[in-house]
Amino acid sequence: MTMLAVSGIEKSYGRYRVLAGVNLRLDAGEVVALMGPNGSGKSTLIKCIVGLVRPDRGTISLMGNNVFAGNGIEARRAIGYMPQIARYPETMTVGELFDLIERIRSDCRIYDRELYDALRVDALRDKQLGSLSGGQRQRVSAALAFYFSPMLLLLDEPTAGLDPISTEAIKAKIIREKTLGKTILITTHGPQDALELADRLVYLFDGLVRIDRPIATLISESSAQSLMGAIAWYLQHNGVQ
Ligand code: ADP
Ligand code: MG
Repeated sequence: MTMLAVSGIEKSYGRYRVLAGVNLRLDAGEVVALMGPNGSGKSTLIKCIVGLVRPDRGTISLMGNNVFAGNGIEARRAIGYMPQIARYPETMTVGELFDLIERIRSDCRIYDRELYDALRVDALRDKQLGSLSGGQRQRVSAALAFYFSPMLLLLDEPTAGLDPISTEAIKAKIIREKTLGKTILITTHGPQDALELADRLVYLFDGLVRIDRPIATLISESSAQSLMGAIAWYLQHNGVQ
């Protein structure tokens, strides 16, 4: 079953074209690593899917529902999103944030506190969001992304700059959710994350998807010893770079 279908997405900021016709399909139960250099539009693409950025052209459908049509907001309830940089009301406490979002998502009464517990978010409940360190903020964002057991998880550099214990907790959670049939898109700079977690690699460069292959295939068809080597080989072999 197709969980997410992104087709012909274009997005420019002023005259600067970030996405030039991106196509991407995620089947239910897949874990896909979205990679690409800094500024290649990974975060912009994810924001288009969640509705924080409006693309200039193209369509996005979630379980067959066009997210730009009337039922788009409803369809997006199936998404759990961890932003690369989360912006929260500074003076609200972590506890108040969870209470607020539980009320907004009153359609969902069962909470998945597995990652919330593993990342020790309870210890942060009385802290104001504005006072959190980068890592603490990421722990809150990660726990929230999984909190309502979404069918589709969009994780934008979830482990970047995070301590080893939290990183392992998030990775273990991703693997557990995959076994439950969840669909997961994860952006990362680390080849290790992609190798450990993902079935498939999607590589954005210069506005387009330049690689979309199972990771095992990508590595075996190149003579490279590493994932980064295989990516470089593929791009050169196909005249991209
Ligand atoms: P990535 O996540 O792959 O690093 P981004 O999607 O964050 O890339 O950014 C892609 C490009 O779009 C960058 O050059 C960035 O500066 C630009 N960009 C992103 N958001 C905005 C914005 N709101 N206004 C103008 N330019 C933006
Ligand atoms: Mg980004």
